[in-house]
Amino acid sequence: MIIQLKPTTNKRELERIIDRLVKDGIQRENIDIIKGDPYTVVGIKGDTRKLSEDHYKTLNSVYQVIRISNPCKELTRQFHPRSTIIELSNKHRIGEGLSVIAGPCAVESYEQLFTTAKIVKNAGANILRGGAYKPRTSPDTFQGLGEEGLKYLSRVKQELGMPIITEITDPRDLELFLDYDVDIIQVGARNCQNFRLLDEMAKIDRPVMLKRGGEVPVNEYLLAALRIYRGNQKVILCERGGKTSDPKHRNVLNLNNVAYIKKNYHLPIIVDPSHGSGIRESVAPLSYAGIASGADGVMIEVHCNPEEALCDGEQSIDGEIHELIPKLHELYELVRS
Ligand code: PEP
Ligand code: MN
Repeated sequence: MIIQLKPTTNKRELERIIDRLVKDGIQRENIDIIKGDPYTVVGIKGDTRKLSEDHYKTLNSVYQVIRISNPCKELTRQFHPRSTIIELSNKHRIGEGLSVIAGPCAVESYEQLFTTAKIVKNAGANILRGGAYKPRTSPDTFQGLGEEGLKYLSRVKQELGMPIITEITDPRDLELFLDYDVDIIQVGARNCQNFRLLDEMAKIDRPVMLKRGGEVPVNEYLLAALRIYRGNQKVILCERGGKTSDPKHRNVLNLNNVAYIKKNYHLPIIVDPSHGSGIRESVAPLSYAGIASGADGVMIEVHCNPEEALCDGEQSIDGEIHELIPKLHELYELVRS
């Protein structure tokens, strides 16, 4: 339930409403005050069935009372009208302006990471990506450098002043991720409903990017995000598509989800056109489509030598990122104006 207050409401009246809610059995931690202009909103989480809507409607300072039956109500724009903005170590703010995350699928060596990072930095990317832990379907393929990969990421972060994002696959590695000062911890599509891992993400004070699992419906995806958000509000969503019966495409990017989420929910959302297509030539057009659908940014796989990549070379671009980023900025301005 949300109680929208009249613009004239003063502090004392607000406190009276909170006291009343507490008397009616609502715990203080389940009451969120979201100050807006001109309306301040009192958001009540959890079970609100015992509250009398009529009683609150009659209070002088109340403009309207709205019951929200959406189980993810804390993530809705009704509950929290302003977009969530997440600030990183270099002061880049995700959710305010366009964010470009770019880098290799996997960290393969220090040289490969540094060379690729320089390409993406010069092209205007804000955040460097690179997988250190890559448990992939076939055990015979490259599985990532593990801690050595984290070491290279943190070294390149220092050298180039770029925040880093990398994927966690096991809660036992969390300490290491924090020790190497990973700026955004990625939870990949395969772990979207790994609730033990999500619960660990809820305990930290570090941005987490949760990718939608290919077969996970949007309502279940949002519930997974809510699980982290309840403890750690620095949650970034990421749409990377899901399987299709057509073997030509690795995945099909679900732009319906991007448009729907952007309109109705306040968390930032990134699109991943690389995993969303699996095809290098599709990366630019799907990036445009993602931004046009309302995404706050893109995550693009870039490799200094895609033909030699140990992982996902077929969907990695190289120097082309230089022409792509300025066009994405132009498109973003057009769509958001
Ligand atoms: C990745 O971004 O490195 C990755 C493995 O993607 P996904 O979880 O979307 O498959
Ligand atoms: Mn990849």
